[in-house]
Amino acid sequence: MLYQRSSSLFKEAEKVIPGGVNSPVRAFGAVGGTPIFAKSAKGAYVHDEDGNRYIDYINSWGPMILGHAFDPVVDAVIEKAKQGTSFGMPTAIETEIAELAISMVPNIDKIRFVNSGTEACMSAVRLARGFTKKDKIIKFAGCYHGHSDAFLIAAGSGAITFGTPNSPGVTQGTAKDTLLAKFNDIANVTQLVEANKGEIACIIIEPVAGNMGCIPPKDNFLQKLRALCDQHDILLIFDEVMTGFRLAAGGAQELYNVNADIVCFGKVIGGGLPVGAFAARNEIMNYLAPLGPVYQAGTLSGNPLAMAAGLAMLQHLNNDRTVFSRLAEKTEYLHHGIAKALQDHKVKHTINRMGSMISIHFEGHEVHDFETAAKANNETFKKFFHGMLKEGVYIAPSAFETWFLCDALSYDDLDATIKAVEIVSKDL
Ligand SMILES: *Cc1c(COP(=O)(O)O)cnc(C)c1O
Repeated sequence: MLYQRSSSLFKEAEKVIPGGVNSPVRAFGAVGGTPIFAKSAKGAYVHDEDGNRYIDYINSWGPMILGHAFDPVVDAVIEKAKQGTSFGMPTAIETEIAELAISMVPNIDKIRFVNSGTEACMSAVRLARGFTKKDKIIKFAGCYHGHSDAFLIAAGSGAITFGTPNSPGVTQGTAKDTLLAKFNDIANVTQLVEANKGEIACIIIEPVAGNMGCIPPKDNFLQKLRALCDQHDILLIFDEVMTGFRLAAGGAQELYNVNADIVCFGKVIGGGLPVGAFAARNEIMNYLAPLGPVYQAGTLSGNPLAMAAGLAMLQHLNNDRTVFSRLAEKTEYLHHGIAKALQDHKVKHTINRMGSMISIHFEGHEVHDFETAAKANNETFKKFFHGMLKEGVYIAPSAFETWFLCDALSYDDLDATIKAVEIVSKDL
């Protein structure tokens, strides 16, 4: 494949945009080489600026669960745009999508729309702190909740009492209120809670982790977190930016039958436009301005184009709930095909999967937390990534990302993907 035009576009971009990209992982830093520039996409395929076509397993990092340029979403946005693109006044469609989201997701009475998953998680934590009148939060190593300061934290030397910033610009003062726990390790979380008794406002978690590969909770981890939170008056926040409206109509709460106190959304809920949201029962949501004391606002929040896209997307998912099991079946099919191809060529691997999320780790051991995910062979991944690209399959340019399946994928596409893995495996 030729990437000439992408290369020259990237050179131009680098002059005026830091690293040539507006979000770091797009730059191919983890895999080397030059990023390909997308030109258009439809259904399961994305086309680049050089005219190459790829079967797409990123799907804009999750939102396009029904495929790219899904007609009802595109039509809704076009129709809305003709009536004005933003007012800074309430609009009827905001209530419409709120009602629908609340009817689909268990355990929430009210929802507030924002512009990104980052904003949703940041606001959820502020709300939890305001509501509980406590300062500290617990997050899990390897879980991503956007780029706001409180989440850019690494385990510090005194990890049990405070974290340290993992980006310059995040202050020690912020880091001291974020504690880092191990995913799937309830003893570790309990220890953190015990060591900081009465100080923890909330525990925030990706109920199925998707930002260190796909790592489902094991041994009733979510149920145990729920019990721990109840015991210590801690709010449990499910960051369902990735899993919401993807794993089930009601997300991970429905799938695992565990109630969270606050739920964060993004990605699918915006149908490909910039949308985030957070939701909870009345008691908590009424704590937000203008009803309550916790401040949160946004000039473009609830933007009509974004709401139109999100509403069209949720309506489709709500009307055809077989989509979730259909996607899970396709993912299982892909899993078995890829596993066989890798086995046939004696490539050490572990595949994790939940619903329409799947990840391949190039190491033989079980991957159940950040440490085990980090041990996988990154050199093998790089070769795999570039090999797949050459075969016309676009996966995320980082070993720590999940693949997202969309409903537009046909079994022929899946077979073509498995075939690509067979070819690429020969050189791993
Ligand atoms: C993508 C993601 C975010 C951040 O959302 P943005 O829209 O990129 O700000 C937060 N949490 C999770 C779990 C995510 O996958």
